[in-house]
Order: sequence, then structure tokens, then C-alpha cells
Amino acid sequence: MKKVNAINNIALHYARLPQYPYGTSGKPYDFYIEDSFLKLLETAFKDVFMHCPLGKPDIITSAGTLVGKAGEHGYGKAFDLDAIFWKDHQLITNNYIHQKELYLGIESFLRKHFGLVLNYHYPNHTDHWHVDSSVSVDYNESSKSETFYLQMVLKDIYQKPVVIDGISGPQTRRFTKEVFGRLKIDTPITTKKNYLKFLDITGKIAFKLSEEQQNPLQLLENLEVVINRLPVNDKHQVNEALNAFLVHHTTSTWINSIQPHQDIENIIDTVIT
Ligand SMILES: [Zn+2]
Repeated sequence: MKKVNAINNIALHYARLPQYPYGTSGKPYDFYIEDSFLKLLETAFKDVFMHCPLGKPDIITSAGTLVGKAGEHGYGKAFDLDAIFWKDHQLITNNYIHQKELYLGIESFLRKHFGLVLNYHYPNHTDHWHVDSSVSVDYNESSKSETFYLQMVLKDIYQKPVVIDGISGPQTRRFTKEVFGRLKIDTPITTKKNYLKFLDITGKIAFKLSEEQQNPLQLLENLEVVINRLPVNDKHQVNEALNAFLVHHTTSTWINSIQPHQDIENIIDTVIT
């Protein structure tokens, strides 16, 4: 077990109440991490930030490593990642809706190293990624957390209209097959070699997308997602106001003039050739 306050010279901070609110860069903190798991974190962070267009960050906030509870945290063999801070940018994990491409780029590379990654859609994990190595790096259709990730990238990176429910069914399998064909990766996804290639290519594509300017139509879609999460009464009122805005002649003329999507096809071609 080692006591560390940085990994690869990235400072580790703690930002949870009462003193340091979630989403801030918090305060420097010592974390206890089991030796071999620390090595894995070093390798994984190196890979993530070597590919990330924002480069190496200054600070990572963590809600904990060694925690007195069941599972890998009990041995200092798990890491809860709350947020990442670069000089002029930040990724707060519970801001997923607004930073999908960057979030999924980072997660794709994390998944190459950690068999278990619990993300935004997994119950109780909207505000952090949990990573550990209690299971091997591969894709199992029966894994809810792995299927959440797969469906998130199918929808938010590859623009397939898949339902994100963590359950692999005929629709998820069909879109997966389509995307694998487009990326020229052998199927099935359940073969480790194919899955690793998918993670690598998807990470690179997501990072490239994260560099593009966000399209107003995407921002509108994000707004709709946020509205749908409101309590019923508020949802109704906000929806009415938004619809009145959208059907206004001037607004609708403007919206119809916006090109629908970023050029995902070009980006795929650049990454796979
Ligand atoms: Zn955890």
C-alpha cells in the first residue's frame, strides 16, 4: 500500500462536502492505493492523456480509493474519479450531458485498462467513474455497465438511435454490427482483440469530436434531455415555453437552416486510415 498525492505528476485532490463542494478543484489530499493498482492507474492515465487533445491535466479529484467498505475499495484497489482539471478546461463527470464526446473519449481509454468501469448511467454513478480491475478487460453482453458504455457510444458518438438501458438486445447487436463494419473491425465484439480495437478507435474519434465546435442542434438536444429530467410540473411549463420559442417563425427559419450533424463520417475515415 502506498500513500500518494499525485499520479504521473497530476495532483490528486478531494472535493466533497462539507468543506469542498463537488465540482470544485477541492484540496490536495493523500490517498492510499495498493501497489499494483497504482501501477495500473499510472499506465491508464498515461494512455488517456497522451491521446486526449487537452493533454495532461493539473488536477484530478477523487472521492476515494481505500474506503472501508466491501469490494475492491476495501483493499485500496479501486479509484473513484470525480473530475479532471486542465489549465483552461474541466470535465466534471456529472456534466456528462454537456461534455459527452470528451467524457466518452476518456472512458474508452480507461476501459482498455480497467475491467470494471461504472459510469454516468450506472445506478449511483452520475457523479464519478468507479474503476477497478476485479474483472478482465473484455465485453460481455450480460454486463450492464459494459452495455451502458456500448450504447452510449453507439448513440452519442456514432449517432445510432439506440435505447440506453444497459440491456443488450437485437437493436444493440444490430447497431454494433453496423458500426464495426464501418470501422473495419472484425466481429464479434466479445473477442478481446476486437473489443480493444473498438475502444481505441472510438476513443480517438470521440476525442476528435470533442475538439469540434458544438452544433446548436446538439445544444438544443442537450436542453431537451435536461428538461426531461425535471419534476413533472416544471417539465410541462418549461416544455411549453421552449416549444413556443421553437415554433416561432424567426426561430424555426433559423433552426431549419442549420446543418444537422458534425461530419462524423470524415472523422471516422481520418481515424481508421
Ligand atoms: Zn467506487
